[in-house]
Amino acid sequence: MSSRRRPSRRGRQIRKAGGRTSRKLVGLFLIVILALVGLAGRITYINVTQGEKYSRIVLSQAQQRYESRTIPFRRGDILDRNGTILATSEKVYNVILDCKVVNDSITTLTGEEEKRYYEPTIKALKNVLHIRENEVRALLDGEETRDSQYQILAQNISITEKKAFEAYCDLDSEENKDLTREERKERLYVQGVWFEDTWQRVYPLDSLACDTIGFTYADNQADWGIEGYYSDILSGVNGRQYGYYNEESDVEQNIIPAKDGKNVVSTLDANIQQIIRTVLEDFNQWITQGQQGVRSAQNVGILVMDPNNGEILGMDSLDWYDLNNPRDLTPFYSKEDISKMSDEDVVNNLNAIWRNYCISDTYEPGSTIKPITVAAGLETGAIKTDETFYCDGAQHVVDTDIHCTDTHGAEDIEEALKYSCNDALMQIADLIGGSELIRYQKLFNFGRRTGVDLPGEGEGVLFSEESMGPVELATASFGQGITCTMIQHAAAFSAIINGGNYYKPHVVSQITDSTGSVVSTIEPTVEKRVVSQSVSTELRRALASVCEPGGTGYRAKVDGYSMGGKTGTAQKIPRSAEKYVVSFAGYVPVENPQVLVYVVVDEPNTAEQDSSIYASAVAKQVFTELLPYLNIFPDQELTGNEADDDSDEKALADMELPEPQHLTGADDTSAGEEETEAAEEISETDEESGETGGTQEETEETYETDDAGSEEDEGIFSEGLTNEEQALTE
Ligand SMILES: [Zn+2]
Repeated sequence: MSSRRRPSRRGRQIRKAGGRTSRKLVGLFLIVILALVGLAGRITYINVTQGEKYSRIVLSQAQQRYESRTIPFRRGDILDRNGTILATSEKVYNVILDCKVVNDSITTLTGEEEKRYYEPTIKALKNVLHIRENEVRALLDGEETRDSQYQILAQNISITEKKAFEAYCDLDSEENKDLTREERKERLYVQGVWFEDTWQRVYPLDSLACDTIGFTYADNQADWGIEGYYSDILSGVNGRQYGYYNEESDVEQNIIPAKDGKNVVSTLDANIQQIIRTVLEDFNQWITQGQQGVRSAQNVGILVMDPNNGEILGMDSLDWYDLNNPRDLTPFYSKEDISKMSDEDVVNNLNAIWRNYCISDTYEPGSTIKPITVAAGLETGAIKTDETFYCDGAQHVVDTDIHCTDTHGAEDIEEALKYSCNDALMQIADLIGGSELIRYQKLFNFGRRTGVDLPGEGEGVLFSEESMGPVELATASFGQGITCTMIQHAAAFSAIINGGNYYKPHVVSQITDSTGSVVSTIEPTVEKRVVSQSVSTELRRALASVCEPGGTGYRAKVDGYSMGGKTGTAQKIPRSAEKYVVSFAGYVPVENPQVLVYVVVDEPNTAEQDSSIYASAVAKQVFTELLPYLNIFPDQELTGNEADDDSDEKALADMELPEPQHLTGADDTSAGEEETEAAEEISETDEESGETGGTQEETEETYETDDAGSEEDEGIFSEGLTNEEQALTE
């Protein structure tokens, strides 16, 4: 610039000096012409040697904005039944560095190579976006990267950060108006940085309902939970933005917009999930007394379902991980332990944490299956509603005695359920016969997946007609030797109490598009009628007695509400290890049940595990919070034998109350020491397929039983609660 001005200035001086000699004038003109020739030569030189570079800069700046690039779709939201966002996608940006542009040098008229953009760009990235200088320099100088036009400097920065950077470079803005000339120049030379739109998956409730919601990996892939099962629906189609050159060699741009993914409306209720979560945390606290590194149980599962349509309102088990940071093992292991893990260990441990216990894990259900056996008996006509049985404490099967938990004497169906009498159930199963019992278990969808809309569902194993001898028939009647998942059992139990309709359990009720319009509604499907209305009514009423004083499920009863249910205490294999899965399935109210709560406690970490009271106490705490929330109103007179209603700690305090004396001995501890190998491997489903290990064919015929005794409710709270217990028993 300055060199071009110089000749004209000289010219003015020449005109002013008009009176001088023409020789001098000619001499000056010659100088001017020489200078102009030199300048033209310089321009020609630059054009020839570096013209391509200049045009490339222009082009690449056009390319970065206008040439072909992907416009990522927005993954749809996952909402709970009330519209609470469980998973969403937030617009964020990747910071892209075009090294080639930043590294561009021009040759000045004095012949020097100048990288004008280099330092100003590094400075801006460092000061505004806090990107480390070393990293930027390494990319700009690196052999491999210095000519790259696409290097990701930072991922998932917020719109606020992006705007701050843009404001820094915006020389027209009010806030930059007082910059010095040098500062303006410096900011003008920030080049080769641009922002790529992208989406970040965000889980606003962190770890709440983590097992059911699931999470995404990079590129919208997902395997777990609703994210995994509905990934195709949540995903959209990427769009594209591309440029082309028109006839005037100008870049024109064309945009094919992305198609956003659809939203999934779940049947889950975030508030119910919170109730479940709090109860689980209280249970942990109760059992472990806050000791670090101690588990309250192998696992505890809680499932809340609408028995009238198969909708899952909430489910959860122990081990919660933050969906926003699913690979973080630090809440579960010490840093030292983590550092020692092999890659395989890490994967296995993460899979164990991500696993949804309520649908994937199988276990022997124990006595909660008794209503299904009774229903099969009534439905097949093997027994009548007024049938009576006599429990003499054991049933002699083949050459062994399979014991009841007590000697219950004469009893009708209702009493057999109320006291969870094994003897009566074995007699009922004998009347039904093996093949009919298996048929009914299958009808209730045991032994096969429910088809719940979540990945990784377990299956469970039943006896086959071939593998079911008299002993297996006897034990299957009270839920031993067969396995199931929580979701299977909850769906089957719902059918028993809702009038006999088996609904397919599900966690999603609606699909909506990105504008919120309903695309499809997933109607509850009655898959089959499993029992008649009259049998359902009969059982619903009989099961109410379980939650009355003297019944094994009385501990779950919420005062003021009619409630039915069934307890279970299944001894795990090997039986000699004295480890138990205890459970309770209950519903409110007895007539026209509105909600089902199913609790499974796998190996409560207590001296005496064999008490369904752990599950009943958990269920009671859930019901206590849940019923008012669901606007289910009390339908019975208060009896007053409740803990202090004013206390927030009421439900937890309830857990700590000793069992009323009249319950002692009235338990449903299952019979003895049988070695049913079939179930040995079944407690865990296969990681990949959800298949269960073990088959019924492996069942050993050696079969011994001993008296499991009437220990269920004895001594459970002997430590620390003795005084209270004594007070109650006196
Ligand atoms: Zn009995």
